[in-house]
Amino acid sequence: MTQSEYIPIRSKLPQVGTTIFTIMSALANECGAINLSQGFPDFESPPELIDLVATYMRKGFNQYAPMAGVPALREQIAAKIERLYGLPVLPDTEITITAGGTQAIYTAITALVQEGDEVLVLEPCYDCYVPAIRLCGGIPVHIPLQLPQYSVPWDLVKKMLSSRTRMIILNSPHNPTGAVLTPADMHELQHLVSGTDILILSDEVYEHIIFDGNTHESVLKYPDLWQRSIAVFSFGKTFHNTGWKVGYAVAPAFLTAEMRKAHQFIVFSVNTPVQYALAEYLKNPDNYLALPAFYEQKRNYFLALLQGSRFTFSPAAGSYFQLLHYDAISDERDTDFAIRLTKEAGVAAIPVSVFYNQPEQVNSRVLRFCFAKQNATLEQAAEKLLKI
Ligand code: GLN
Repeated sequence: MTQSEYIPIRSKLPQVGTTIFTIMSALANECGAINLSQGFPDFESPPELIDLVATYMRKGFNQYAPMAGVPALREQIAAKIERLYGLPVLPDTEITITAGGTQAIYTAITALVQEGDEVLVLEPCYDCYVPAIRLCGGIPVHIPLQLPQYSVPWDLVKKMLSSRTRMIILNSPHNPTGAVLTPADMHELQHLVSGTDILILSDEVYEHIIFDGNTHESVLKYPDLWQRSIAVFSFGKTFHNTGWKVGYAVAPAFLTAEMRKAHQFIVFSVNTPVQYALAEYLKNPDNYLALPAFYEQKRNYFLALLQGSRFTFSPAAGSYFQLLHYDAISDERDTDFAIRLTKEAGVAAIPVSVFYNQPEQVNSRVLRFCFAKQNATLEQAAEKLLKI
């Protein structure tokens, strides 16, 4: 068809282009730059886990899994949740295996947000929340996190609540800033939503990547929050296999039931042999309890390599992302600086302004760097960054 013959479409997402992760990874590949932009490890998933997947494939576990997920995996997840957060969760009715965190988030929003409902997001926020809200006719209400620590302005959150508020989206450890919620934050939230019908969607995909002796504040630890929450998790982040796209959603039975009505028609079910392998692998808690120390060492190594550079930073409290400020280097917009850094210096990172509703009004000069990389990769990247 020529352009004049296109069938007219009224876009449901007129403002949305291609995600920044696709754009920056493509640019990094094109320029042969070191890719610290899109968040994924450049080292292997544990060989034992890969062997388990192969074993289950050979054993013939290759047809559809049950819609809600393989029971053995849901049982292991329930045991992990009880061990870590002290909450007894029912595997049959409160845990759903999803095709990654993004699908869990989309499914929760599409199942629970109605036309005209308001959903509070704290920005900068991960880029899949707002399009999902818009696709189901919801209204995103953007609240900026407070600099310099990207902390939650609870007074402002309180002011922005209305009779139409259906949901608040939380994310800790936070992508893109690496900030983490504290027990005081959770108590504030509990206080705000008490006696309301507000739901909490809690993106906790970096639950095990938290540093300096802090513990992850899951909504699952707070009974008054749990009763109104959907918590989302990701095996890709925990076991270094983001390409397997397996995660899960945990929510009380009445919310899980609604979510599954949508889930069954979005993916129906998730990769069978991977689920069996994960169920086996989760039996050893050391496989995830070692993660904070592993990534804390990577964060420290990356930051030590950057000593003497003109970038400034405060160490990430969690996630595998480190923000670096470039005020001392340039006053360019972060989107321009990120492109130039990739093309001229050979290191790709993510501009933080794209995670805001109005990126052009964001003045902070800061980029997000992923340190889930082999030490050699971090060394090569730091060598280039030190020259700037
Ligand atoms: N979560 C990853 C990040 O923040 C990206 C995932 C994706 O590319 N959609 O970098």
